[in-house]
Amino acid sequence: MSQADDERWMRVAIDHAIAEKGTDPVNTPIGAVIVHDGREVARAVNHTAEDCDPTAHAEIEAIRQAGSAEGQMRFEGATLYSTLQPCGMCSFASIWAGVSRVVYGAGRDDVHEMYFEDRHLSTLDYLADAYKDDIVLEGGVLSDECARLYFRPWDDVPEDMQANT
Ligand SMILES: [Zn+2]
Repeated sequence: MSQADDERWMRVAIDHAIAEKGTDPVNTPIGAVIVHDGREVARAVNHTAEDCDPTAHAEIEAIRQAGSAEGQMRFEGATLYSTLQPCGMCSFASIWAGVSRVVYGAGRDDVHEMYFEDRHLSTLDYLADAYKDDIVLEGGVLSDECARLYFRPWDDVPEDMQANT
């Protein structure tokens, strides 16, 4: 897919995140879209707080939707777009789902450390080391627009609002 396609689909993910959760970082608007054979098969946001479900990340919700939409559990050739760099759970779910590309907007260095649980490991290494099917990984698509939805590295976030404390 071309860079213009990636930006177009990332904008769908951004717009969906904003439509569902607004632009306030307090609500953690994260959007994910799965595109297969050039068409959208899933579009989701995170529902962790709303559903009291720590696994309800946008990417996981999108993978579940794609499974229902396609009637299968693997999506070879599909691209998963996420407005924020996927966590370890979502990285591995992408491997199990067999998606061929993971494209994200804001990266770890663009946002507050609260969004990532691990101290030293890069969860992206999981994807880089996936061996059954190679996964192409690309970050930084509309990263500034995506990063504006989240607390930034320099923001003074109250400790009780930090997800990983
Ligand atoms: Zn995740």
